Amino acid sequence: MPEPIRKPGTQLPSMEELVFDNQYSSLPDGFFSRHAPQPLQNQSLLHFNEDVAELIGLDPGQQHRKDFVEVLTEPGRWQQTDPLAMCYSGHQFGQYVPRLGDGRALLLGQVRSSSRQLWDIQLKGSGLTLYSRQGDGKAVLRSTIREYLASVAMHGLGIPTTHALALIGSDEPVYRETIETGAMLVRIATSHIRFGTFEYYFYNNRYDDLRQLAGYVIENYFPELQDHDSPSLALLSSAVQSTAELIAQWQSVGFCHGVMNSDNMSIHGLTIDYGPYGFLDKYESAHICNHSDHGGRYAFNRQPGIGLFNLSCLAQAMLPLFDDDPDQAVEKATVALKEYEGLFDQAYLHRKRLKLGLASPDPGDGALYDDLLDVMEAGELDFTRTFRMLSECGNEEEISACLESIPGAENDTGPQWLRNYYARLEKEGASQETRSAAMKLANPKFI
Ligand code: AMP
Ligand code: MG
Repeated sequence: MPEPIRKPGTQLPSMEELVFDNQYSSLPDGFFSRHAPQPLQNQSLLHFNEDVAELIGLDPGQQHRKDFVEVLTEPGRWQQTDPLAMCYSGHQFGQYVPRLGDGRALLLGQVRSSSRQLWDIQLKGSGLTLYSRQGDGKAVLRSTIREYLASVAMHGLGIPTTHALALIGSDEPVYRETIETGAMLVRIATSHIRFGTFEYYFYNNRYDDLRQLAGYVIENYFPELQDHDSPSLALLSSAVQSTAELIAQWQSVGFCHGVMNSDNMSIHGLTIDYGPYGFLDKYESAHICNHSDHGGRYAFNRQPGIGLFNLSCLAQAMLPLFDDDPDQAVEKATVALKEYEGLFDQAYLHRKRLKLGLASPDPGDGALYDDLLDVMEAGELDFTRTFRMLSECGNEEEISACLESIPGAENDTGPQWLRNYYARLEKEGASQETRSAAMKLANPKFI
């Protein structure tokens, strides 16, 4: 592998000097479709995220190049790239859709940072591909800003996510419910491989390709699993673990994804494909943030269960890799999936304790947290503000006064909960300063 070439006097590589290692495009043809990006009318750089540039080791000064947007979006301008749309399928709202794929995004290429980590550089909103179906291949400014903001917020909250490097605007009209303007998002991620990528090869009976995909993922991203008796089964277990951990984190900050289809689930346990997502304001356990989700399949309180459904889709698709005997394969997959609930509960309980400011474990902590959610729901309390409030009050009276000061808190379960909480804090014995500082870290004011 060549080392990055540095221009004398510059600290970090330019776009052309990044070390590309386009591993995905070396897979066989059936894994993707090659397309050139389609520039938008009068496009220009709207925003550049220097922190994300740092992740991939790109010189942030590149944003000032006159040709920055052209290099990203004009066919052939960035010679080290090998743009392609990835093929995948997936379960959308519980139904299997045989072919999805990147209908409006292109993987421009993969770069290795100085720490040898492989990063995808993807352009979202880059025009039609083989997988566009009825779509126009475009993204609009509004949704692009939403994806940008959420991915920055999630990263700030310590939650695994794709990243947004840059926002490109234009004056090209794009038709949605009204006329909007077209935009592109430059997205960075460990990879964009989804549960649905595996499903595509399984349901097409392309087991050799399925094997190749698993091998590709393990070799490039999970090399430590190669020593395992069954690396594919270990990959499933890794997805079980990272997904359980991810969804526990979502629940703890009140994040509602909105479209948890299996094609929007990352093999790395990243938050991916921000669409109609939302963060809870008033605590509503069954909050639905996606207005087209009429049945509430992806309601806030259903996310943990949907995580398991999606992992089951992944496990199903990986079955041929686990054992030649189908019964044995099912048994092995089932054992791996059974870990999910315990891993999720453990990860969530850890965060529940942090959010309540409880440093040492007590068996009743999970129930204490769940009871608070009930109090919030009955009193229509704000999810984020309630935890901040609890972090700022030192004793039962103060907490009581704080809680009563929130509109809608006049219900009778609140006072009893406060007494229980205060009794639990006394058992903990930490000073108010210590608890408050710890709770503030676990309960960010801004989301
Ligand atoms: P999503 O619900 O955003 O995860 O997208 C589901 C599928 O629809 C994916 O295959 C997307 O690439 C595709 N898609 C979404 N929006 C568009 C669009 N405007 N043009 C083409 N394909 C799209
Ligand atoms: Mg998607």
